[in-house]
Amino acid sequence: MSEKTKGQKLLKELSYKKQNYFEAASEEEKKAIFDYAEGYKAFLDAAKTEREACAESVALAKKKGFSEYKFGDPLKAGDQKYFVNRGKSVVVFRVGSLPLEEDGIRIIASHIDAPRVDIKQNPLYEDSGMAFLKTHYYGGIKKYQWTAIPLALHGAVVLKDGTKVEIRVGEDAGDPVFYINDLLPHLGQEQMSGHANKLIEGEQLNVLVGGLPYPDEEVSDKIKLTVLSILHDKYGMCEEDFLSAELSAVPAYPARDVGFDRALIGAYGHDDRVCAYPALTAVLDNETPHTVLAMLVDKEEIGSEGNTGIQSKVYEDLMEEISIALGANFRKVRAASKCLSSDVTAAYDPNFANVYEKMNAAILSCGTAMCKFTGSRGKSGSNDANAEFIGEVRKMFEKDGVVWQTAELGKVDIGGGGTVAKFVANLNIDTVDLGVPVISMHAPWEVISKADLYSNYKAFLAFMK
Ligand code: MN
Ligand code: MN
Repeated sequence: MSEKTKGQKLLKELSYKKQNYFEAASEEEKKAIFDYAEGYKAFLDAAKTEREACAESVALAKKKGFSEYKFGDPLKAGDQKYFVNRGKSVVVFRVGSLPLEEDGIRIIASHIDAPRVDIKQNPLYEDSGMAFLKTHYYGGIKKYQWTAIPLALHGAVVLKDGTKVEIRVGEDAGDPVFYINDLLPHLGQEQMSGHANKLIEGEQLNVLVGGLPYPDEEVSDKIKLTVLSILHDKYGMCEEDFLSAELSAVPAYPARDVGFDRALIGAYGHDDRVCAYPALTAVLDNETPHTVLAMLVDKEEIGSEGNTGIQSKVYEDLMEEISIALGANFRKVRAASKCLSSDVTAAYDPNFANVYEKMNAAILSCGTAMCKFTGSRGKSGSNDANAEFIGEVRKMFEKDGVVWQTAELGKVDIGGGGTVAKFVANLNIDTVDLGVPVISMHAPWEVISKADLYSNYKAFLAFMK
């Protein structure tokens, strides 16, 4: 059996086949895969919103000796810094010893916002024994998936006097949770015969927050008053303070291992924390002669807009400030920089095989997935990365034994999507998409493989070397 024919040998030599990373990994590396996942799950539970992900990233950075950077601060080789943008996005960077104009910055760009259900500005009402908060969903969700599951409320309220109060209810074992009602199947005949997009309409995504009438015969809306009185006691809030609040309903589940063998992780918001956490830890854990930088940005799920999204000038300004502080010409620095735009991709799912083209789809556990292009139809709206740059990155991965694959988001003309890559590339920076394949992307609970998570981390380390 071990005697190979000439054809068998040639086939092995010449043909390309994806590898399952669990299979390819040594026992020692397998252990590293499982160990790394523990830190990631803790990060997921601590960081369900961009504000929390930002704060948690800063806490982890400080632990590793990173200190805060502000525009204009001096910089020198070896400095380890983090830069916070409005508490909703964060950039961590380490200044390397190589000349910045020739070597540029090694950038990893990922996002820390995730699809969810945001509370409106005048949200609270009661009806028929229940108090609710009106919502407006954020990002691309299948609305029906957000009903009949436990929800937590996260966010910040700026009170009338300007004080900011942080709210996080529904995560601790003793906390109450919240809920979006669905219709019982007994009365759901009409609902279930309709279009899935209309099973639950946007204005039906009302979050159930109370049911106890305030004990006073003289007031109307007694349940609403009970809720208001609790908010006042706990947070000093009045109803008017919702006007300047940013509250989100997110799934109340913690991250958990999935499967008898614990190979997978189920959690809310893998997209894109499964790339943000490896980006962060790759910068924090490792010294390299290059100047390396990870940006964890906000607003990707709604088009990367606003002053915390990646289209904001703040990130460009920061890189310019770094260049100035190191006496380098920013245009030369940009031209020499390289970026992995790190966002998730769709994992091939045999349960929905008809939307994928299997040869080019990401297969679970075959490693982090590079997308030469995203976009839709004829690659519209995509950063179609250069073969030369892909070749360069491929060599880095090869050298470090990274198990990785390429991916495409579904069959041609089936759908598509885009991410932050094109905005970084616009700055005259070589950029390619690389990220973890996800099952049920944008669902309240998504699934990834621990092997792909660790492959992503290893890929970032190789890129920074
Ligand atoms: Mn994403
Ligand atoms: Mn997304």
